[in-house]
Amino acid sequence: MIPAEVLAANLRDVEQRVAAACARAGRARTDVQLIAVTKRHPPELVRLAFEAGLRHFGENYAQELRDKHEALSNCAGLRWHAIGPLQPKNAKYVAKAAHVFHALERLEVAQELSRRRTGAPLTCFVEVNVAGESSKAGIAPGEVAAFLEQVKHLPNLELTGLMCMPPLADEPEASRPAFKALAQLARQLALPCLSMGTTGDFEIAIEEGATHVRVGTALFGERPD
Ligand SMILES: *Cc1c(COP(=O)(O)O)cnc(C)c1O
Repeated sequence: MIPAEVLAANLRDVEQRVAAACARAGRARTDVQLIAVTKRHPPELVRLAFEAGLRHFGENYAQELRDKHEALSNCAGLRWHAIGPLQPKNAKYVAKAAHVFHALERLEVAQELSRRRTGAPLTCFVEVNVAGESSKAGIAPGEVAAFLEQVKHLPNLELTGLMCMPPLADEPEASRPAFKALAQLARQLALPCLSMGTTGDFEIAIEEGATHVRVGTALFGERPD
């Protein structure tokens, strides 16, 4: 786990880069939410990051989210974002612990989340497979409108936007076409939010309209196995 001083320096650096990208794009800093991705890191690291001022945390695995939600239940104002693929049988953990779900792509999961959710509606992003990669999660761009029709009447879910994980690349610029395509699709569908951009490409994502960036490695270093 990284020392508090290193985390504080990383956070300052990421914050500056987020702010600079917002300025380049003529956007307000408050239009972009930084989500600190803590998957596979211990709960103590989340606590350290919370003490450093971070409030929004992203987790990929439902059981890990359940356990960290429990372990950090005394951190007032902490918000959990479930960002990984989800099986219907694990939807109950996300329905209970998460503030936002970023990877909606299956009707059965949407139905299960809706059935299990109590309290405020669960904010949801539909994950889109922008580049049509066979190995990737997400709905094909041409099928998103039909999927939205199927899920928009479900109670306890609030569909707010689209999410993507562009093809892996060494160059941040390589992600720009995917981010542009996602932004255009969201406009067509009148969805206000875009969850896109990770350590490798979050500045490009902000330039292309990201409202939520999901950053792990730049804040916390390499993940433990
Ligand atoms: C792991 C992960 C991230 C963070 O990736 P980094 O490269 O560490 O910033 C963001 N989004 C999703 C869906 C992830 O699985």
